[in-house]
Amino acid sequence: MFLPSLGRLEQTRLSLNKEDVYLSRYTDRVTRETREATAALLREHGLRVTPQRRAIWSVFEGGAAGHLSADEVLRRARRELPELSRATVYNALGELVAAGLLQALDGRGSQLYDANVASHHHFRCRSCKRLYDVHPAGVERLQLGESGFRVEETRVVFEGTCPEC
Ligand SMILES: [Zn+2]
Ligand SMILES: [Zn+2]
Repeated sequence: MFLPSLGRLEQTRLSLNKEDVYLSRYTDRVTRETREATAALLREHGLRVTPQRRAIWSVFEGGAAGHLSADEVLRRARRELPELSRATVYNALGELVAAGLLQALDGRGSQLYDANVASHHHFRCRSCKRLYDVHPAGVERLQLGESGFRVEETRVVFEGTCPEC
């Protein structure tokens, strides 16, 4: 009675294994392509490709990272490179900002790093301190009442409570 069902189980495991192999090969390929793209991007911006810079930049890849403090970047980059030091992360973030790949923003008490380097504004939640991108209409037409000022950049920060708080 047990033998046939054991046989079936064995088959299921085999086909699952095949799927695992297929999946891990796919992941390898995607990882390799992502790594090459990261290396090319760093070089384009005049930065030598090092495992440290690659691990730090990969935290921001895909655009879903949002606005991260250096400590948060350190925590996430250590998943790829556990020996990464805090000093290396601070230096690399400075280099990425100087190269135009990241912008540094004033959070509350700490700088936050944003991979969205296009001009945009932010909403800062007073409760969780998170920054959100906002794209308000009309802000670009704000003007200074007095003459003699040369405006080089307009940064608008909205403050309040986010939907999660
Ligand atoms: Zn919040
Ligand atoms: Zn932003």
